[in-house]
Amino acid sequence: MKEVDYIIVGQGLAGSVLAQQLLNRDQRILVIDQQPENSSSKIAAGLCNPVVFKRLTKSWMIDDVLETAKTFYRRQETLLSEEFYTEIPLYKLFVNEKEQQFWQQKSNEPDLFDWLNPAVEFPFNPNLIDSPHGAAHVNHSAFLQTEKWLNAFQKYLRNQQAFIAADFRYENLSLTAEGVVWQNVQAKKIIFCEGYRCIHNPYFDWLPFKLTKGEVLTIQFDKLKLDQAINKGVFILPYQENYKLGATYNWDDLSEKTSETGKHELLEKASRFIKDRMEVIDHRAGVRPTVSDRRPLLGIHPEHKQLLVFNGLGTKGVMLAPYFANKLVALLLENQALPREVNISRFLDSKA
Ligand SMILES: Cc1cc2nc3c(=O)[nH]c(=O)nc-3n(C[C@H](O)[C@H](O)[C@H](O)COP(=O)(O)OP(=O)(O)OC[C@H]3O[C@@H](n4cnc5c(N)ncnc54)[C@H](O)[C@@H]3O)c2cc1C
Repeated sequence: MKEVDYIIVGQGLAGSVLAQQLLNRDQRILVIDQQPENSSSKIAAGLCNPVVFKRLTKSWMIDDVLETAKTFYRRQETLLSEEFYTEIPLYKLFVNEKEQQFWQQKSNEPDLFDWLNPAVEFPFNPNLIDSPHGAAHVNHSAFLQTEKWLNAFQKYLRNQQAFIAADFRYENLSLTAEGVVWQNVQAKKIIFCEGYRCIHNPYFDWLPFKLTKGEVLTIQFDKLKLDQAINKGVFILPYQENYKLGATYNWDDLSEKTSETGKHELLEKASRFIKDRMEVIDHRAGVRPTVSDRRPLLGIHPEHKQLLVFNGLGTKGVMLAPYFANKLVALLLENQALPREVNISRFLDSKA
């Protein structure tokens, strides 16, 4: 029988970040993943936008989470000798004068001073990008090449005999007085990081997910070359040799299949301001683990103390995962209480 401290089910952003944080604390872990082609983490554009563009407010907990995320991914780059995390200016293209003025007014507010650059700019060739009202950029924006990082990190785990490619079946899990047993592995605890598939987990299927499918395209332009990310209803992000164009939000169709409707929606929205030819190179879809109250889901099962969950990273997994994985590790190793707004205990009334 192999013995570890923690089994982690799922090697998306949640499971991977948590695995690294536990390794940092000398814990013995085993990560299990069924390796789908299209997990939410693999297809995500990986953008870290510190601002909510619609209302021009700071993203939730940004002062805490972004710095933790940056430090975490930079350390991964050193550990794995590859680059994954890139800082890039993110421009919002203004729809009209009113929106431009609203940005300038907001950028003077002390709370947003550090995040919104006040200058209205015209940085794009008007023959290729239609932006008569100009644009402005947020500070400290970045993106993580999620799939590249997850692949590199999986290789690292495999080298330490800490990864198994398998479809985890709940009926093969035994709960014991000491912890859990799965196949020939014994652990003190098991932490479920299954993303949206948590809805099939018999121990945590009471958590109120409100899942959102998303589609994203990889495109090439004929002439346009961008060193910046841009947003106007959709985002365009320079990505490896090409560009990512995304994303859609669909609460009804929760399949992981790409759709002509999704592709058309993205291209149509982009063509409202892109005046260049766009060729679609790739098209992918995934399901985001979004939650009814839009907050992560962390905590211990109310009846079985050896079962935990780390999920609900929603639309912002890249920024949120390192900070909240730290919180879960502090609970496990130092018995520090979780912040109430992310603790699954907030939903215990609805379970009863
Ligand atoms: C189109 C799109 C664009 C996005 N863009 C961004 C973005 O720009 N920035 C950002 O921060 N976030 C973005 N997101 C959101 C982000 O992807 C999620 O917040 C994050 O990836 C969730 O990670 P996770 O590990 O919880 O779930 P997942 O990525 O779903 O990972 C769960 C893992 O668990 C495994 N698993 C589940 N059940 C089992 C089982 N029974 N046995 C074995 N393995 C199992 C799966 O194989 C999977 O690998 C985007 C999402 C989508 C869909």
